[in-house]
Amino acid sequence: MLPLTGLTHWLFLTRAMQTITNTLLNWHRDHGRHHLPWQNTHDAYRIWLSEIMLQQTQVSTVIPYFERFVDRFLRVTDLAHAEQDEVLHLWTGLGYYARARNLHAAAKIVAEKYDGHFPTTFDEMVDLPGIGRSTAGAILAFSTRQRFPILDGNVKRVLARFYAIEGWYGVKAVENKLWELADLNTPQDDVHIYTQAIMDFGATLCTRSKPNCPDCPLNSDCTALHTNRVTELPHGKPKQTKPSKQTVMLLIKNPDDAFWLSQNPPSGIWGGLWCPPQVESVEDDYVIDGLSVTALQTLPELKHVFSHFTLHITPVLCLPNQTAMNVADSSAVWYKPHSDQTLGLAAPVKKLLETY
Ligand code: SF4
Repeated sequence: MLPLTGLTHWLFLTRAMQTITNTLLNWHRDHGRHHLPWQNTHDAYRIWLSEIMLQQTQVSTVIPYFERFVDRFLRVTDLAHAEQDEVLHLWTGLGYYARARNLHAAAKIVAEKYDGHFPTTFDEMVDLPGIGRSTAGAILAFSTRQRFPILDGNVKRVLARFYAIEGWYGVKAVENKLWELADLNTPQDDVHIYTQAIMDFGATLCTRSKPNCPDCPLNSDCTALHTNRVTELPHGKPKQTKPSKQTVMLLIKNPDDAFWLSQNPPSGIWGGLWCPPQVESVEDDYVIDGLSVTALQTLPELKHVFSHFTLHITPVLCLPNQTAMNVADSSAVWYKPHSDQTLGLAAPVKKLLETY
């Protein structure tokens, strides 16, 4: 909740709104990012691709992935016609794989329903898989200069601190308040510059752990700074212990140094990605999809942290007892690390296969 009420509250909001908007537009001129590979274009395809990749991911991580994608899929129709395995393969390591599956599904809709041209209305844009209100607003602001507010993680943090908004933004009322402030601050003109400015400001100056308040152009009006609550705001999710899960992953390796992988169902954790078989316990031998294998060695545990649980993986190196496997009718393949096989792999699986 804001600390003021009534007319004073309204005057505070109006003044603060002008302060943020004008200050950030000026700040961006000298300190914003102007030469990212997806900037200085109206091409909704490149803008959309970057916005999806940037969700929960830093710019420096995204750049090489973005460049590989546009190099391989020059247009949205090229992406639409690609095999999902190739899309997931190019996404390997970027995490949150539902983004890649939604990306592919959205590309198909744009290719088929919109003849390869991204829609230009908010309702149509937000209807595409993987595009929420903030992402739709950013794509439309950058590609068509239409005025829509955005509220990504950076914007939430800046607004929560500047206005000292109490509460976690996972709570609907808090999120609604932030949307209201985001909307009030979004200017009628130069919306694309303002959108980039507030994203850059949150990513480079009003950062999560080390905001540079002494050099901040908003410091004379920032409520969190004036009330000594910069480190406290924004409020995080109420602490909960993250559950742990265990799995035993069988690294079945044939004499050609290829591993036996099968494809996960399309949805859920690592949906559509290729994985070694997983079992509940370490045994001396197993029969997997009719393939009989002998366990050779239990390898050191690998821990992988998801947003909502931690997975403890016990890898077991196995030898197949019959190697002349006909996989043509199976959903499994023999996969050789560092080969040109284009399969989508989760980061810890890739790491295990490349290590062993
Ligand atoms: S003064 Fe500090 S907390 Fe406030 S907006 Fe600037 S960087 Fe963020």
